[in-house]
Amino acid sequence: MLQGKTALVTGSTSGIGLGIAIELAKQGANILMNGFGDVDGAKAQIAAQGVKVEYHGADMSKPAEIEDMMKSATAAFGGVDVLVNNAGIQFVSNVEDFPTERWDAIIAINLSSAFHTTRLALPHMQQQKWGRIINIASVHGLVASAGKSAYVAAKHGLIGLTKTVALETAKTGVTCNAICPGWVLTPLVQKQIDDRAAREKISVEDATRELLQEKEPSLKFTTPEQLGGLAVFFCSHATDNVTGQSWASDGGWSAQ
Ligand code: NAD
Repeated sequence: MLQGKTALVTGSTSGIGLGIAIELAKQGANILMNGFGDVDGAKAQIAAQGVKVEYHGADMSKPAEIEDMMKSATAAFGGVDVLVNNAGIQFVSNVEDFPTERWDAIIAINLSSAFHTTRLALPHMQQQKWGRIINIASVHGLVASAGKSAYVAAKHGLIGLTKTVALETAKTGVTCNAICPGWVLTPLVQKQIDDRAAREKISVEDATRELLQEKEPSLKFTTPEQLGGLAVFFCSHATDNVTGQSWASDGGWSAQ
């Protein structure tokens, strides 16, 4: 379905981004990867789908590095057809103790980076009269949780950006939608489980059960592969007229 197209997935060395990159690659899309950590391992998993894979190590908190990454996408592939804004970080603290540099980093990586990639990807998409922008927001773009002020503010902002870009591109063949996962068992969430186990002096298994029970009625994690399937859906012909939407995969969390 995506043969001849190029997808940029930010933060695709791990977790949800890697899962989405693999599913888009299965549909034939060439992939521009980004993120830190085990680049080679992730690259091998994506390349195993038989597509061309390039990597750019832009720090998504730095606009100049994002601009360089978008230029390299044009040089390697002619431009980005599917943009998945996925890179994100978390930090948990009550507002009055929230370190200001953590606030700035979360807003920069989880929100502002999507503004920069979007503004730089749109001219090519509009020229092609086809494009897909998929923002990995969160159930925290729809509802809040205590201790996550920066993350919740950034994800609500990302949904606002999604709606605005959808309106501005409505007549152009470009769509812009958000995916809002509940709990997904990635390093970002494993850290929260480990912190809870240490804080409450309970096992990791008990902390995992508590984490799900507290918020997610299905008591199940969504998998990166399932979110990759949703991203493929938002690239399909069936969704040509779906734009500005936020699709939750949260086991009922936001229905409460
Ligand atoms: P993860 O920690 O497994 O992956 C995060 C990715 O972002 C990694 O590739 C990392 O290298 C990259 N990254 C982090 N900072 C970066 C930076 N400054 N520049 C470039 N890349 C950077 O986390 P994940 O759970 O896969 O999260 C991916 C996205 O999904 C995030 O936006 C997160 O907010 C969102 N999300 C996660 C969950 C969950 O339960 N895990 C739920 C809802 C939304």
